[in-house]
Amino acid sequence: MSVAAVIVAGGSGLRAGGEIPKQYQLIGGKPVIRWTLEAFLSHPLVTHVQAVIGTGHEQLFAEATQGLTLPPPVSGGASRQESCRLGVEALASIKPDRVLIHDAARPFISPHVISNVIAELDRADAVIPGLPVADTMKFAPDGVIERTVDRGSMWFVQTPQGFIFDKILAAHRRAVREGQTNFTDDAAVAEFAGMPVRITAGDQANRKLTTAHDVRVADKEVSARLFVERPDVRTGQGIDFHVFEKGDGVTLCGVKIPHTEKLKGHSDADAAMHALTDAILGAIGEADIGKHFPPSDPQWKGAPSSIFLLKAMELLGARKGIIANADLTILAEAPKIGPHIAAMKAVLSPLLQVAADRIAIKATTTEEMGAIGRKEGIAAFAVATVRLPL
Ligand code: MG
Repeated sequence: MSVAAVIVAGGSGLRAGGEIPKQYQLIGGKPVIRWTLEAFLSHPLVTHVQAVIGTGHEQLFAEATQGLTLPPPVSGGASRQESCRLGVEALASIKPDRVLIHDAARPFISPHVISNVIAELDRADAVIPGLPVADTMKFAPDGVIERTVDRGSMWFVQTPQGFIFDKILAAHRRAVREGQTNFTDDAAVAEFAGMPVRITAGDQANRKLTTAHDVRVADKEVSARLFVERPDVRTGQGIDFHVFEKGDGVTLCGVKIPHTEKLKGHSDADAAMHALTDAILGAIGEADIGKHFPPSDPQWKGAPSSIFLLKAMELLGARKGIIANADLTILAEAPKIGPHIAAMKAVLSPLLQVAADRIAIKATTTEEMGAIGRKEGIAAFAVATVRLPL
């Protein structure tokens, strides 16, 4: 049985405020959407994960999903319904048996709820998770109660909403054909097409992050949990040197800085990223970067150094570790580093999966002393602190 998941992140997310759409804001150092995608990618029954993103969010999505194995995202439509339809249409060539459609802004989806929805599709063509209503409900269209609603038959519904793939695809196509474009969830599309929709047990934790406050609260909760569960704090250091040769710029922390020379090395010679990689490897007692990526191996020639850093993060991740903070110092007489520090932090933050305020990048000259002072090359020093579970 094949089960695909469509993760819908098409909205601009402007309601949550902040500089970037809420699905890309960080909770516990990771973008909201990454938590959501990882929940589905790691579920043993989910065979394919397709994201639907907003127009202009391609770069945000690429940064948020570095290191994850995903097909290219689909561009969403003008409404939630249209975005969902485009996500489902994107699976038409794969033809999964079942599809789960989930809000990217519900990062706390548990494997248990995903399993519930998949299992219930044995008995129904459409299944959605729901929570019973605990509070008394009143029907009061003009602010004056007309009647008390029987809450026993009322549900708060969540996602993932699960469907037999062929049926929901046909329902979406029919809705568009008949000019029905204002459904707010996929169950409504199924209802319109006459499909019975079953409700299965949802989860209180599976809430939707809608406002800036929701994201802040979630960030605090997740950060506190990540820290409490990882009391083993370790620090590593890394140092790297590269000499100059003729060229048109140096790459440091993934940012190319125009210059009359470049750094010599078998990869892109990003001394800062190499030092940082070694600091992380050092913190977890691993062999250094040269052992994992031998300079003699031609396949690393000209490679972006982010692959080394991602390897260190993968090894840290295998121990369920996280970065607490990283502190880098770059020694260079030229070029000027200061104007590029913000861009460097923006590159490192998604790679290290921490907020930019947990990364420090400093630059200094050596007052023309020694080899660095003679502009023979650049050096970088890094310290990284990680947290591991016991
Ligand atoms: Mg190096």
